[in-house]
Amino acid sequence: MPTAKFKQRCAICKKNMVLMYSARQFPICTSCHMKRIDSPIEEAEFKKFFDLPKELYEQSSFLRSIKESYLRFHALTDKQKEVFKKVVEDLKKPKEPKESVPPA
Ligand SMILES: [Zn+2]
Repeated sequence: MPTAKFKQRCAICKKNMVLMYSARQFPICTSCHMKRIDSPIEEAEFKKFFDLPKELYEQSSFLRSIKESYLRFHALTDKQKEVFKKVVEDLKKPKEPKESVPPA
């Protein structure tokens, strides 16, 4: 995880503070983002693809942004799908201790 550089007030609710990693990031808090992406998905393929426990979306702003992107454009690139699945797998894995050496 990159280190947050600063905090900014959420642009939607103007109440919660959002950790900002870059100036280009849109300041939106988790609860506003969850509401924004809480829309029904019509296409069966994507309905299944995005059918994940709510907790995973709450944990990862990346997953939220991919779903938001789908809701806006009704499509995802293969790359987006690939990275999405990888992030979901990583989130489902039990957390490893920080000291562990990554396999070569
Ligand atoms: Zn908010």
